[in-house]
Amino acid sequence: MDKKIIVIGAGLCGTLLALRLAQRGHKVTIYERRQDMRTAQISAGRSINLALSDRGLKGLRLVGLENQVNDLVIPMEGRMIHPMQGDKSYVRYSGRTGEWINSVSRGGLNILLLNEAEKTGLIDIHFNMECQDIDFDGGKITLTDLGTKTAVVDSADVIFGTDGANSAVRNGMMAQSPRLRFDFSQKYLDTGYKELEIPPAEDGSFRLEHHALHIWPRAGFMMIALPNLDGSFTVTLFMPFEGEKSFSNLQKDDEILSFFEEQFPTAYAQMPDLLADYRSNPSSSLGTIKCYPWQVNGKFLLMGDAAHAVVPFYGQGMNASFEDVVVLDGLMDEYGDNWPEILSRYQAVRKVDTDAIADLAQDNFYEMRDGTADPVFLLKRKLELHLEQTNPNYFSKYSMVTFREDLPYHIAMTKGRQQDQILMDFASKVTDVNQVNYDELSKMLV
Ligand SMILES: Cc1cc2nc3c(=O)[nH]c(=O)nc-3n(C[C@H](O)[C@H](O)[C@H](O)COP(=O)(O)OP(=O)(O)OC[C@H]3O[C@@H](n4cnc5c(N)ncnc54)[C@H](O)[C@@H]3O)c2cc1C
Repeated sequence: MDKKIIVIGAGLCGTLLALRLAQRGHKVTIYERRQDMRTAQISAGRSINLALSDRGLKGLRLVGLENQVNDLVIPMEGRMIHPMQGDKSYVRYSGRTGEWINSVSRGGLNILLLNEAEKTGLIDIHFNMECQDIDFDGGKITLTDLGTKTAVVDSADVIFGTDGANSAVRNGMMAQSPRLRFDFSQKYLDTGYKELEIPPAEDGSFRLEHHALHIWPRAGFMMIALPNLDGSFTVTLFMPFEGEKSFSNLQKDDEILSFFEEQFPTAYAQMPDLLADYRSNPSSSLGTIKCYPWQVNGKFLLMGDAAHAVVPFYGQGMNASFEDVVVLDGLMDEYGDNWPEILSRYQAVRKVDTDAIADLAQDNFYEMRDGTADPVFLLKRKLELHLEQTNPNYFSKYSMVTFREDLPYHIAMTKGRQQDQILMDFASKVTDVNQVNYDELSKMLV
């Protein structure tokens, strides 16, 4: 227990990890590039939220925060789909009762974790410290103190890189890739995203149904909205960077307004600050990063987005990063303070699952954007819900990924894809769920 541990990055994964390490009796130093978000206004006052589901909740349960997080979430039991024509429709996420996902404030959750980390008395958090360079053989890191612009060198027995999708620790591994045989791939989508807002109504209430994740699927682009505790919704427009309907083509005020009015009428009516938000918020890129190995010399380990950044369409990036901590914790139970063994076993067991969620998240982009507007897909969802209501052993792919914290992602992917093929085939041959022979279907799904 007298080992010194450094965690680089006090985002969602790094703070949960540090908290767990401290609960196990380790002394931890965290270095974080940003200012302390508890005292600094980081996102210009905008609420950014994330979908928190069972795998993430398992991580929070591990550190005893499952109840406290309840004060920060709004349960979303289904998707509210706003088609181009016709009435909106509501599709539950699960046919089982008691299964939903949660909208949670990214900042609120990070602050809860930072506060709990500090309460342990075993964690020193240094903000405004940017990791610049890694000496893998010497076990040292070099940081810049962004306040004083001076260089700081530190070393530890174990050093975790939880510094997000643009990880400096990973870049250090890349720089030594021939020696480490470090594999790296990065795949951008041609679609980017822009965050917008539906503010609360004048009386503070929600302007849309708030126990749902709203989706406006359109051919080639889409918009979603998740509720915040203050009565607002964070709205995210996903759209190609180039092409006919694209960020680069939507520049003039009148074009922006008429685009939203025409494409998203039910949201447009509720977005009084649309133009200002559209102009001031960036259009950001989305991509998948895979790399390997994650550990070097039994001393350095990448976790969270630094190891596996995924596109956000399964709402699993944070959940997977929290699950990383659960997996590592299990290995600490098994191997005690044998860190080289823990680190090498961790990467060996975890990689197949984070690859799976990365692939599933890419698939779900097309499902959310195009599938939720496709009548065969909607019929298939109804079949799945019926099966979940009537058969306790049936779990859709979405349910396996989102609600089965006991099931590794790679099994959810393989089984879920097989089920999807069978169900899409059935759904394409009928016009109503009542025409389906459920006995025949259930036999095929076993
Ligand atoms: C648009 C969008 C929507 C998303 N929606 C969801 C969702 O609904 N559900 C879900 O589960 N996930 C979602 N995600 C993914 C989720 O945000 C990430 O998976 C999660 O934040 C990963 O946590 P992390 O701690 O690994 O990285 P981060 O949260 O990015 O934290 C990394 C930390 O490291 C710090 N840092 C970076 N570089 C350095 C450095 N050189 N030195 C020191 N510190 C450094 C950063 O300042 C930051 O605090 C979404 C992502 C996006 C982009």
